[in-house]
Amino acid sequence: MTHPGDAGTPPNGRSEAVLDRDGLHALVRVLRERGRTVIGPTVRDRAIVLAELESADDLPHGWGVDLEAGRYRIRRRRDGAVFAHSAGPQSWKSFLHPQRVRQWTADRDASGELTVREEEPPAVSYAFLGVRACDLRAIRVLDRVMTGGRFPDPAYGSRRTGAFIVAAECTEPGATCFCVSMDAGPAVDGGYDLALTEVLDEAGHRFLCRSGSEEGAAVLAELPRGDADDATRTAAAAAVRGAAEHMGRSMPPVDLRALMRDTLEADRWDDVTARCLSCGNCTMVCPTCFCTTTEDVTDLTGDHAERWRRWDSCYDLDFTLLNGGSVRASARSRYRQWLTHKIGTWHDQFGSSGCVGCGRCIVWCPTGIDLTEEAHALHREATAKGTAR
Ligand code: SF4
Ligand code: SF4
Repeated sequence: MTHPGDAGTPPNGRSEAVLDRDGLHALVRVLRERGRTVIGPTVRDRAIVLAELESADDLPHGWGVDLEAGRYRIRRRRDGAVFAHSAGPQSWKSFLHPQRVRQWTADRDASGELTVREEEPPAVSYAFLGVRACDLRAIRVLDRVMTGGRFPDPAYGSRRTGAFIVAAECTEPGATCFCVSMDAGPAVDGGYDLALTEVLDEAGHRFLCRSGSEEGAAVLAELPRGDADDATRTAAAAAVRGAAEHMGRSMPPVDLRALMRDTLEADRWDDVTARCLSCGNCTMVCPTCFCTTTEDVTDLTGDHAERWRRWDSCYDLDFTLLNGGSVRASARSRYRQWLTHKIGTWHDQFGSSGCVGCGRCIVWCPTGIDLTEEAHALHREATAKGTAR
């Protein structure tokens, strides 16, 4: 290992180095010393959740996960891998676009004068540690939705601007992962400050670390590190390639946008509706679902009022409530809306798919509904009816 300040910067302006576990500890420490609130994976309540890290000791050393439709279990691993687990119940959306945000407060004083105060955006400076390729893509999707239109969201913008991202390339996908089908992983392709690839082989436990920004290079220069060597580069590339070859799920290899458009009246929607509880879990865990509603609350005196924004779901009957009733009164129409928007009309609205293949909605659906299975079934039905393109 060399020490802080020893290594140079390669000609392309990007730094590359090898970190060991001390280097990972230093990374969390340096980010905290720079005033960042470091968020990363940690074990809590028998799940790998995202929470503030005080040190790299909080990371899930030696923990993995077993996933299936409607099933999530953590398990001990024989090795001490830190990032050999796939998506947990939360995504980075929980920090960038929190479940509840107060928008304003209103107070009436003794003279009856009303003062309304808009909520100030939070002065938080995040560092996200361990962001997978699928979730990096999801953040890009959210950026487009929340800041790329005519009505940017300042609360999202203040959390997102300047957030320092440490990506972790995926080397062990879960049984419900399909980022390859959505062209969203497992390798990261930009949008990070630092990217880690974990390597565990006879040469030891280490992380190939490359910078993707000036600040990333500056942070890397402060860490104890070794030179990036060909053996580590080769092992890291092989691990990511292996992950791509072992996806647990896949989408049918067709134009999903056209498939959704051409199967709006398919019988399969009745089949899935018979299993769907309209609980909205899939929208809560999805890293790109962004819909919200607002609620006004007052205290008992009536002199203090607040407006809160909270996550909402297109599965909720009230989501499309107009005078005369809900536009999507049937569970069939609500499931169909969710799936056709997510992988179909999202393209028309935001220029990309709304699905990044993280598999969370499959794992956290209480009845194990699997959107890849539904897409395959819709494709089979369209093929049988001769309507598949
Ligand atoms: S639709 Fe499901 S698999 Fe796709 S991004 Fe959302 S939670 Fe992940
Ligand atoms: S698909 Fe599953 S998670 Fe989504 S609303 Fe239906 S039952 Fe709930």
